[in-house]
Amino acid sequence: MEAITVTTTARSLQRLQCKHCGHTAEAEVTGFGEGTQSSLNAEGTALERAQADAQKDIERAIADVRCPKCQMRPEGAEARFWGPWVGMFAGGWVLGGILGAIPTVFDINMSQEDRVIAFWATFLILGVSTTLVVPLTAHSRYVMRDRRVRWL
Ligand SMILES: [Zn+2]
Repeated sequence: MEAITVTTTARSLQRLQCKHCGHTAEAEVTGFGEGTQSSLNAEGTALERAQADAQKDIERAIADVRCPKCQMRPEGAEARFWGPWVGMFAGGWVLGGILGAIPTVFDINMSQEDRVIAFWATFLILGVSTTLVVPLTAHSRYVMRDRRVRWL
């Protein structure tokens, strides 16, 4: 089965009304979107998904942007940003533990020593790669997020 992934960018004018200082500003916001379609989907599905994704990215960017006047973000903006990354980080370690425990749980025919090695190897490989990848990706997104908003 073949799958294609399309990435796209969208731009639109958005208005900010700061909940802290009441400042209003207009901005040109750029959103990035990605969409995937398999050969089972109709032609153009990936592009449609990418465009919808880019539109959501624009809404997220303007919803949580730092106010250009008082430099405050809306309530909960930090939690909305970091929540999924914390979840992915924890998920990577938990998944490593679950996969590593499979030989023991399903009583696969392995020696006890091999089960212990399999557990720690799987747990650490997934955990360590999660530890390396997730914070780096999160940090680069964090740096990038306000750059998607250009005040007019
Ligand atoms: Zn403000």
